[in-house]
Amino acid sequence: MSMLNEILDYNKKFVEEEKYEQFITTKFPDKKMVILTCMDTRLFELLPKSMNLKNGDVKIVKSAGAVINHPFGGIMRSLIVAIYELNADEVYIIGHYDCGMAAIEPQKILEKMKTRGITEETIEMMRYSGVNLDEWLRGFDDVTESIRHSVNMVRNHPLMDGDVPVHGLVIDPTTGKLDLVIDGNKNR
Ligand SMILES: [Zn+2]
Repeated sequence: MSMLNEILDYNKKFVEEEKYEQFITTKFPDKKMVILTCMDTRLFELLPKSMNLKNGDVKIVKSAGAVINHPFGGIMRSLIVAIYELNADEVYIIGHYDCGMAAIEPQKILEKMKTRGITEETIEMMRYSGVNLDEWLRGFDDVTESIRHSVNMVRNHPLMDGDVPVHGLVIDPTTGKLDLVIDGNKNR
């Protein structure tokens, strides 16, 4: 059975047996916060549990490395919507140690793309069109620096409400221990 069918099978029973009942909540975060973190598999349950968060408590936005690629891209837009539309009064940007984005080498990803059928012409064509692929795929060297950068980007965004605290933290993906990088209550 394919993974998709396995999931659909399970889902049918999940709904029939009303297993959703314990998760019923609203779209507004009870703890009035929005978190931007990494898509890393180790954080899927660990991050909320280590912060004492349950379903309904928070908005969670995820991206590779908890990086905000562009000040007017989808990640920033999600944070803005969470604040103005969904009652989030605090922003937490949480990176983690041993992040896959720290090791990323754009040149290697481009090579992998080529082995999977993306042609050299396509890549060249994108470069000629002004897309800086190396910049776009680039990760970061130091997660703490990257979190500091992201916090400043949100903090200084022209559409940000200056009264909303923007915190920066780094989590240990094994123990869940949080290291504070920036206390947003002090940079408002
Ligand atoms: Zn990561």
